[in-house]
Amino acid sequence: MTRDIKFLPGVGPQRAAILNKELGVYSFQDLLYCFPYKYVDRSRIYSIRELEGSMPYIQLKGEILSFETAGEGRQRRLIAHFSDGTGVVDLIWFQGLKYVLSKYKVRQQYVVFGRPSVFNGRINIAHPDIDLAEEVNFSTMGLQPYYSTTEKMKRSMLNSHAIEKMVKNIIQQLQTPLPETLSSTIISVNHLMPLTEALMNVHFPANAEILRRAQYRLKFEDLLYIQLNILRYAKDRQRKYRGYVFQKVGAIFNTFYATHLPFELTNAQKRVLKEIRRDLGSGRQMNRLLQGDVGSGKTLVALMSMLIALDNGFQTCMMAPTEILASQHYDTILQLTSGLGIRVELLTGSIKGKRREAILNGLLTGDVHILIGTHAVIEDTVNFASLGLVVIDEQHRFGVAQRARLWAKSAQPPHVLVMTATPIPRTLAMTLYGDLDVSVIDELPPGRKPIATIHQFDSQRAYMYRSIRQQIAEGRQIYIVYPLIKESEKIDLKNLEEGYQHIREVFPDCAVCMVHGRMKPAEKEEQMQRFVSGEAQIMVATTVIEVGVNVPNASVMVIENAERFGLSQLHQLRGRVGRGADQSYCILVTGYKLAEDSRKRLEIMVRTNDGFEIAEADLKLRGPGDLEGTQQSGVAFDLKIANLAQDGQLLQYVRDVAQTVIDTDPDGTLPENEVLWRQLKALRKTNVNWAAIS
Ligand code: ADP
Ligand code: MG
Repeated sequence: MTRDIKFLPGVGPQRAAILNKELGVYSFQDLLYCFPYKYVDRSRIYSIRELEGSMPYIQLKGEILSFETAGEGRQRRLIAHFSDGTGVVDLIWFQGLKYVLSKYKVRQQYVVFGRPSVFNGRINIAHPDIDLAEEVNFSTMGLQPYYSTTEKMKRSMLNSHAIEKMVKNIIQQLQTPLPETLSSTIISVNHLMPLTEALMNVHFPANAEILRRAQYRLKFEDLLYIQLNILRYAKDRQRKYRGYVFQKVGAIFNTFYATHLPFELTNAQKRVLKEIRRDLGSGRQMNRLLQGDVGSGKTLVALMSMLIALDNGFQTCMMAPTEILASQHYDTILQLTSGLGIRVELLTGSIKGKRREAILNGLLTGDVHILIGTHAVIEDTVNFASLGLVVIDEQHRFGVAQRARLWAKSAQPPHVLVMTATPIPRTLAMTLYGDLDVSVIDELPPGRKPIATIHQFDSQRAYMYRSIRQQIAEGRQIYIVYPLIKESEKIDLKNLEEGYQHIREVFPDCAVCMVHGRMKPAEKEEQMQRFVSGEAQIMVATTVIEVGVNVPNASVMVIENAERFGLSQLHQLRGRVGRGADQSYCILVTGYKLAEDSRKRLEIMVRTNDGFEIAEADLKLRGPGDLEGTQQSGVAFDLKIANLAQDGQLLQYVRDVAQTVIDTDPDGTLPENEVLWRQLKALRKTNVNWAAIS
């Protein structure tokens, strides 16, 4: 099975190179693990009379009446008029015309397979599969597999059909079953299909039930190894490192609580603080993920956790993904802790020279108690006297590898609290951050009015500007956000600048500031400050303001070209308003023409403010692969068949199975689990991300 794919009959070096490049297939085994993305029931033959334009793949049996070529250049196409006696459809080819003409004959019985569509009132099937009718054995056909292919592959005649033949070939060559990759206990207890049987049936299932069982077995395995990997990792770390014990809650925390806290904590905040306190005193290193919707008050929880560290003689640091956010946290925390005798410093890439030196020195002597900054705080030149707790804000920008770097900053790894305002669906959290304990703030501070979200078309601008003017007259502030997406950064920037000019013209009596990622930090800071101070009523910006920025007086968030943003991004942006007691608004502006997906996203935004609901919907719409963080998370292996958006229930079940394995075999020495550990090791070896961490 490890044989080079080029040795498979009909492949050879040229096609092998294409398979390497396009599918990452190098060996027989690799191909065997390329699973079909769908199956089509080929036990049924339709008659042409039954066809409609919107059907899935179907097959017909009949003959070609005549051929005809039409069109010029790129439009050039070959049309075969195909009939089964109940009607006529057009079979159409845009490529390989010569080949088709030489291969298929008029007045010959064929089985044609493809997807009908309607063009100019006629039903046609483009690039159908065609077999000689006499060669098709319907009774053994069952479900036909369909494989993903790329344009490059198709040009070398490596279409789904060709892949199917290659896989069939490999399976026929199998003399003995492949080595099993799950333990016999797991297979029998969970009634799983053995590996080889599952692989055969996932490619060539006799019926839907067998297919389901084959898929179940393979998904089970996919998810099991991810969970084993994460839980093994967490277990090893637990054994390797002890955590600092923060025994007491002392004067700093208590003084803050009694005299500095500007409001009553919400019940959720209290509960989470208790969970954190328990961790900090447990002797185990804390690795906790704090999830809470935008505006739920995570910063305060973080600060109070840091005060516990200070009470126990430790330093702490807080890391944010952007300079704007870091300096905002700095301001907030400086203000909240004034008079407590705490030294708080800000360290970002733009803090240099003497000032930087003084901060670094203060960290070494222990004079700096709280350090707030960007990635700059994990640089090698930054060292602490006794770093006890690290808070990471907006988790999804930091991978496991970056967290691991932090641990190198002190003899023992500090406690880690990661905060995210992007609620992560449970299934995804279990995969990506499965090595973390999770706390959730599921309650907003009292008195917040839900943000009203409105979808508005370009053409209704005048109306929108009237509402904005009204808000400004009431003393509120406005955000207007433009998309900035990498590929077209220049055009986007132009849009932003034009938008800025336009807004200045529409609101000549207002102060307008502008912030985007290409600005120098000092300039950005200055513009930002104009808004924070209230001097500017309108801020025109890109998504640099997406995370964390807190201006409670802002009450309107206008998002231009809202269709170009993802759901979680829209939700983040919306979370910039609704932070005070006043009614806030989010206005999503788009053109009239919208793709189906965009329309769905906007509908969800208008319907709900619930971050978890939005996250779930996002996972369903986009699939997990696209979600930020999946790439750099470093704890997940590639999923070959399982789908986190669909297999959430199985994942939960499998996690318990994995947990039991780890609990009953903490050292990884039980003979019955040998196959599991061997397979885990092999998977880790082929996983690049993973190598960077351990
Ligand atoms: P996020 O969870 O998005 O980081 P923040 O920590 O920025 O939220 O808090 C949002 C706003 O809510 C801040 O202005 C903060 O001062 C305020 N806040 C936090 N906790 C409470 C509370 N218990 N009661 C009232 N306001 C609160
Ligand atoms: Mg925040």
